[in-house]
Amino acid sequence: MSTRTGQCMCGAVRFTITDCPDSFGVCNCEMCRRWTGSSFLGMTVPVSNVSFSGEAQIATLQSSDWAERAWCKRCGSALYYHATVPPGMDAYQIAVGALDDAEGLVFASELFTDCRIPGVEYAGTRHGLTRAEVFAKYAPEATQ
Ligand SMILES: [Zn+2]
Ligand SMILES: [Zn+2]
Repeated sequence: MSTRTGQCMCGAVRFTITDCPDSFGVCNCEMCRRWTGSSFLGMTVPVSNVSFSGEAQIATLQSSDWAERAWCKRCGSALYYHATVPPGMDAYQIAVGALDDAEGLVFASELFTDCRIPGVEYAGTRHGLTRAEVFAKYAPEATQ
């Protein structure tokens, strides 16, 4: 079981992940694109496995009916996406770019494969879902 650490750009917020997973994914959806300025690389970690320091500097926004996003108030760095629905689902997508060391992690999945910024390609192969496939799987009633 590995432990990994990370921080925002300015260092006001730091975090430690215990039992850290060994893989991560990318999301190219419009919200992640606007939030990060590019695409969001995230790793799924149960909330109980993450501890923060500098928590007073964490700002959150309920960005949809099912999730909130968090960033550093001081420097603006994206920290995590937090799915809050259904209630049993209590996991962060921790920003992989905030890790001190991402060595050894496997790039394993991609969401919104058809929404990449033009010209952006990812090396290798991984499990992927298009926008329509994501909505069919996770939000069949959503019209967006
Ligand atoms: Zn910061
Ligand atoms: Zn997204």
